[in-house]
Amino acid sequence: TSPALPEPDVRLPVRPELADEQPYGAPQLDVPVLLNVNENPYPPSPAVIDSIARAAAEAASGLNRYPDREFLDLRADLADYLLEESGAHLAPEQVWVANGSNEVMLHLLQAFGGPGRTALSFAPTYSMYPEYARDTHTAWVTGNREQDFTIDPERAVSLIQEVRPAVVLLPSPNNPTGTALRPEELNPILAAARTSGPDGAASVVVVDEAYAEFRRTGTRSALDLLADNPHLAVTRTLSKAFGMAGARVGYLAASTDLVDRLRVVRLPYHLSAVTQAVARAALTHRAELMAQIASLRTERDALATWLTEQGLQVVTSDANFVLFGRFEDRNAIWQGLLDRGVLIRQTGPEGWLRVSVGTPQEMARFRTALGEVRQA
Ligand code: PMP
Repeated sequence: TSPALPEPDVRLPVRPELADEQPYGAPQLDVPVLLNVNENPYPPSPAVIDSIARAAAEAASGLNRYPDREFLDLRADLADYLLEESGAHLAPEQVWVANGSNEVMLHLLQAFGGPGRTALSFAPTYSMYPEYARDTHTAWVTGNREQDFTIDPERAVSLIQEVRPAVVLLPSPNNPTGTALRPEELNPILAAARTSGPDGAASVVVVDEAYAEFRRTGTRSALDLLADNPHLAVTRTLSKAFGMAGARVGYLAASTDLVDRLRVVRLPYHLSAVTQAVARAALTHRAELMAQIASLRTERDALATWLTEQGLQVVTSDANFVLFGRFEDRNAIWQGLLDRGVLIRQTGPEGWLRVSVGTPQEMARFRTALGEVRQA
């Protein structure tokens, strides 16, 4: 038992808008089946662990020095990966890396948002975005997605022209719905965004492709559009498809001009030597990790089919999670699953629940638990 802390006799100068805020995050509970934060259920293989351990040991021998501030080797490796994964030709200088795509997004808002500026997205959208906006004193505005969670391009363009946002945030596939952006949604937005920002500048259009590797055949990555759109930024992460959420590595591809603006706002040496080494080691195993993606996709499609067969509504997903519903009391379903050792997420519009795709064994437990809960 620790001694009681003394009563504070000073009042901290808390920013008024932060006074009642709680730290963000899904509950981290000790539960057998974790299907709540869209992680990859497969831990790294012994071969991947071995490479990472060696790379970390080598990095450790130089830890008395600050890390490489420009990490061009890692940026080149990621450019190679994107060429292989999406056919995108990128120079290392067009790639940016930070501690999770969360930090990449913060860099974007630090560089392009700020007081008197606005960031725009279309709800339901990723729940962290308004926090990055708040933390960078950027105003936050949301338009709405349609009933089927697509974006109406005409309405989107008129909202953009009205709001004149510095940054437009478009997750594709969208979290929490799994909906991928189609060219007929993205192209008019990119065209309008060329002059829709502050003082006639462009709006930076961020396509957040955290889940892109899970996309269905026929769905294209926005990386294809980079050559013609210097105001486009496509963010990616090693947290999901690569199964490296614990390593905290996210990245972005964009024009060199856009990337150079991010270099201005990053903390000096923000990417540790260990992180750089771990990321490079993981990337050498991409063939093995990509093989897992195919089985997760298959598992996702089977899950969607099963949920539909249960008479539930299911949103078509290009990601490693599925939004399903609708429940009169979603909290009761969520709690019933948790009581049976299965943690999913209460997110999205009222009545919907989101479940991440796990291993076949985990999905079997989820199906059994959901069946029981719905009968109870
Ligand atoms: N974008 C989206 C749409 C996400 O769902 C997430 C993770 N939940 C992230 C970005 C952030 O991922 P990370 O910081 O781990 O790269």
